[in-house]
Amino acid sequence: MPQTKQNPDAQWADECPRCHNRGCLTVCEVTLAANGRKLYPETPLLPDGFDVDPEGEFSSLRDHSTEDELVRCDKCKETFPLDELAIQ
Ligand SMILES: [Zn+2]
Repeated sequence: MPQTKQNPDAQWADECPRCHNRGCLTVCEVTLAANGRKLYPETPLLPDGFDVDPEGEFSSLRDHSTEDELVRCDKCKETFPLDELAIQ
């Protein structure tokens, strides 16, 4: 797993583990930990995270933590768990 040295806050790799293209990852499905609701945010995965609520739809929820996140690669169209991109 490559380390992103220039970004000390980086939590996630921006390289697809399947086709090894970079910058082509989209968070396509998450479950809100607060209420178990599934969301399909279609939001870009950045090295320091992603915005699960770009529209502000869930601004009333204090806890935006998510689980069971799925990421899609827009190059090879594979989907895989966000955990596979975690930088150790
Ligand atoms: Zn890919």
